Amino acid sequence: MCATAATRVSNVNGQLPRRPLAVYIKKTMRPAGIYRKLLDELHDGVYFVDRDRRITHWNAAAERISGFSAKEVVGSFCHDNLLQHMDPTGARLCIDGCPLSRTMNDGNPKVVETVYLHHREGHRVPIQVRTLPIFGSGGTVTGAVEIFSKLDRRGSDLERRLSELRRRLMLDTLTQLPNREHAQRDLGTRLYDFQHGGTAFGAIFADIDHFKNINDTYGHAAGDKVLKVIAATLANNIRPGDMIARWGGEEFVGAFASLGSAGLQVVAGKLLMLVRGSRVDLTDEKPLQQVTISIGATVANLSDTVETLVERADELMYKSKTAGRDRATLG
Ligand code: GH3
Ligand code: MG
Ligand code: MG
Repeated sequence: MCATAATRVSNVNGQLPRRPLAVYIKKTMRPAGIYRKLLDELHDGVYFVDRDRRITHWNAAAERISGFSAKEVVGSFCHDNLLQHMDPTGARLCIDGCPLSRTMNDGNPKVVETVYLHHREGHRVPIQVRTLPIFGSGGTVTGAVEIFSKLDRRGSDLERRLSELRRRLMLDTLTQLPNREHAQRDLGTRLYDFQHGGTAFGAIFADIDHFKNINDTYGHAAGDKVLKVIAATLANNIRPGDMIARWGGEEFVGAFASLGSAGLQVVAGKLLMLVRGSRVDLTDEKPLQQVTISIGATVANLSDTVETLVERADELMYKSKTAGRDRATLG
């Protein structure tokens, strides 16, 4: 009953479909039945106008994006200036340059990249507009459809890209751990908090044992694999609020919130045990390889800077190396 056999809708390229998209729209320019429901499922706003640019249908997304309900809009004229489409120069498109009018005049689809619609609450919403003609019997244009999608606000888009870049700049690409710059900032913030009335925290310096042997024996790619496995073991076994970063080469720095030396010893022991218990698949032929680390661990003191703190942890780590590796030295 909603059908007019001759009603056709052009496709996006403006060409008529091979078989008429029979009868989706009445002569009244209102989609019905399943088509109406489908239109309400779309993320894009869709509305239909008749030849006089009277709005005949307004889908659910159009309501969401514009704030105007179908009840308020259907029956009014697009050039009533309800939506007050404005282009980036401030020109009022509904009065002069309406893409729906242009589509109905020449029978071709139009795309307008940036249009600002007037939201019911008064603010402007950036949208992209596409218009398509609707052909009636005999190929005459009987109306048009406008499809509009909300554009991301450029400001927030830029902010998102910047914060993503910032995040990437702070990440070590091989291990996906925070990099040295991030670690320095993190330690600086923790020291500042501690020195202004906050609680002490523990820091560790960890270095993979005999890493050069792994590179020399199995190749650099195998060495990279070891770095990734150890990084993952360390990073997956710290608490929220703690930090493990790749300091450089095969060295890692960690910070552990609210830890005194007893707690730090427990944490260092746990990390040693977990790394020792990790197995790296270095080559197809060789059995999985065990890798160990040596740790230096120290609690921050009130006169520390980032440099003195890391240096102390590094010197303690060297004590672990000379004492036989695969151990932690606390100081
Ligand atoms: P030790 O137990 O005394 O720490 O011995 P080590 O062999 O681990 O120490 P050394 O400092 O001599 O070796 C570190 C090696 O780490 C040398 C360097 O080529 C390698 N290395 C540094 N960065 C990377 C990396 O990104 N990938 C790989 N595969 N190797 C790296
Ligand atoms: Mg080293
Ligand atoms: Mg090493």
